[in-house]
Amino acid sequence: MKPTENKNCKYIFVTGGVVSSLGKGVTSAAIGRCLIGNGLRVGMLKLDPYINVDPGTMNPYQHGEVFVTEDGAETDLDLGHYERFLNMNMQRENNVTTGKIYEEVILAEREGKYLGKTVQVIPHITNAIKERIRKVGQRKEVVIVEVGGTVGDIESLPFLEAIRQMKIDHGAGNVFYTHVTLIPYLKSSDELKTKPTQHSVGKLREIGIEPNVLVCRTEKPLELDLKEKIGLFCNVPVQNIIAAPDVSTIYEIPLLFKEQKLDAILLACLNLKPKKNRKGLQNWIEMVQKIKFPKKEVNIAIAGKYMELKDSYKSLIEALIHGGISQEAHVNIRYIDVTHPDLWDQLKLVSGILVPGGFGDRGIESKIAVVSYARTHNIPFLGICLGMQCAVIDIARHLAHLKEANSTEFNPHAKHPVIHMLAEQKNIEKLGGTMRLGVYPCKIKKNTMGFTIYKKENISERHRHRYELNNKFRKKLETAGLVISGEYTQKKLSEIIELKTHPWFVAVQFHPELKSRPLEPHPIFKEFIKAALTYGK
Ligand code: GLN
Repeated sequence: MKPTENKNCKYIFVTGGVVSSLGKGVTSAAIGRCLIGNGLRVGMLKLDPYINVDPGTMNPYQHGEVFVTEDGAETDLDLGHYERFLNMNMQRENNVTTGKIYEEVILAEREGKYLGKTVQVIPHITNAIKERIRKVGQRKEVVIVEVGGTVGDIESLPFLEAIRQMKIDHGAGNVFYTHVTLIPYLKSSDELKTKPTQHSVGKLREIGIEPNVLVCRTEKPLELDLKEKIGLFCNVPVQNIIAAPDVSTIYEIPLLFKEQKLDAILLACLNLKPKKNRKGLQNWIEMVQKIKFPKKEVNIAIAGKYMELKDSYKSLIEALIHGGISQEAHVNIRYIDVTHPDLWDQLKLVSGILVPGGFGDRGIESKIAVVSYARTHNIPFLGICLGMQCAVIDIARHLAHLKEANSTEFNPHAKHPVIHMLAEQKNIEKLGGTMRLGVYPCKIKKNTMGFTIYKKENISERHRHRYELNNKFRKKLETAGLVISGEYTQKKLSEIIELKTHPWFVAVQFHPELKSRPLEPHPIFKEFIKAALTYGK
């Protein structure tokens, strides 16, 4: 159970206080980007306090998007931030939940690994947590560990206890605590208030953790006198009080941290030196400039059903922004609820329509109608996963004259099941972690839109689905004009479809948004935004 330990690894812990949704994930990722700028090898870990083994079975309304890694793990959406800010792939080991820790400890207990002992939160659960942290550090110089939840929650206590122990185990010069907190603004008295932060830090210190740095989220600038007050009451040196005001783009945050010398503070406390061959943040600065000073703009619709919670489409939104970066364009995203009556008026205002992934049949007929609209009006269209399945149904019904075409997900007895369950899924009974997940290769046909986009024949993309295009209908669909331009050849699964007769109609069974990065926008999103800009003219 004990992985070989990397004695030289340094650990940065990120906790949050006062309220949730303060942007701990972005803060952790931004710290990661600053350290990468110094040439360091950085690892990331998100600790989630809930009892689900992974977020795969949770409703995106509650938890936001499920981020899928190359190795097929369903993880917290913060891993998406890590990948985008660090420009690096995460893996299964980079996200651990309470459920996973307990599962591991209970299994070990049943195997007799603790014979004779009473298995307890301290030390057994906390040891398992620490092992997971050290495992990420095996081949890294620094590991940034984000503790989910808010200080004061019952659920996160074992994680906080484990990270407290890490300082004793590894020594003060190897462990660093960052606490992200809120300094609320009170309109009536026109003041920023520090008391909630004092209480939150007090709570942390009760547990035995003294934060080295406070990252203070504010709506208004944090002046020196207030920083001094916070420092005094929270026992943190004033230069270690870092202001994190609201910004127009999250990608600006590493620059904000750098300006306040957060990376220098971290390096000094952890006895680390910047590497000689460090690249700094130059490419990052250039990218942020492109976001802040775009030359054009374009309106894109995301037509889906989780429109109230933008976190459900986190990676998608970011990928569209990245597509915009590549064209030096600002992307105005219109979130369109397909079940809303003014859907059609809203669609008149956009130059590109995207139907995203999803599950279940609510709003499905509207989504198919949205595809028809984009197809018949020659509006650039991108369908992703469920969006591709809707496109196949639209084409089947309206071009291949299969009037009763549907997916068996929505109608198990459909007369023309053009989308049906993957063969490998048919005997699955347990629903957790059993979809077709993670990266699979895809072969692209030459002389197709797919090839124009990727400019190569062999690609690989990430998946999360149970249904696929039914090959029984392939011939009929192809005769009707559907082009299958990308395929997982080993199992003959359709991965990319398009239409020859449309200026830009592309739909994919995979999730390209998961691989898009601000420094390397995904080719599909680059080309989609480009097509939308052309349409807009
Ligand atoms: N519900 C569809 C499937 O399982 C699509 C999934 C998705 O969009 N991620 O195949």
